[in-house]
Amino acid sequence: MSRSCPAVRGYRPLHPAVAGPLVIYFIKIQAWFIGKLADDDIFLINYNLKMKTILLENLEAEIRKELDEAEEAAKKAYPRDRDVRIGVVLVADGDKKFEGANVVRERFVGSSCAERMALDKALFAGIKKIERLIIIGENNDCPFEEVIAPCGNCRQMLFDTLDDLEQSDIEIILSNSDKSKIVKTSLLELLPLAYKSNRNNA
Ligand SMILES: [Zn+2]
Repeated sequence: MSRSCPAVRGYRPLHPAVAGPLVIYFIKIQAWFIGKLADDDIFLINYNLKMKTILLENLEAEIRKELDEAEEAAKKAYPRDRDVRIGVVLVADGDKKFEGANVVRERFVGSSCAERMALDKALFAGIKKIERLIIIGENNDCPFEEVIAPCGNCRQMLFDTLDDLEQSDIEIILSNSDKSKIVKTSLLELLPLAYKSNRNNA
């Protein structure tokens, strides 16, 4: 006589009255989980769609010109012989342009990003509305293959300024060194869930 496995020997199928609701319950949990994943996927798809890569030739003529101006601004980075040079053009109040380049001081104390220089110049001039920001970067040793994006500090600084100006968002155009990669995005895309001290009072 062969000996059967105790686990198998002890197995009794669940009564259909118990098994039925249990199966339905597990199907519901699975459906909820799949639905949750789908929502997240849709969010990610929408998020990526808005941030679009664009060819230089398809960029609006005025923005292409501003990109050239940002490239020129990068040449004024301090010190002038610096390898990494970032240049920006901030467009405000319709067609006012403010250029900026990175300033790097010894031991980085008091150094400044190109975005900050352009924004401070714009605020000093008393602008009322920011239209867009164009950013490009160069590196003598190793040109940037990927687009240059503002650092975290500059993103929050821009967000705070928009809040002060009662603006919701601005267009941001990012480019790599040779302009073969250009991305059109916005500040809120680059800084989702930004810190806002008066968020609850909005
Ligand atoms: Zn920065």
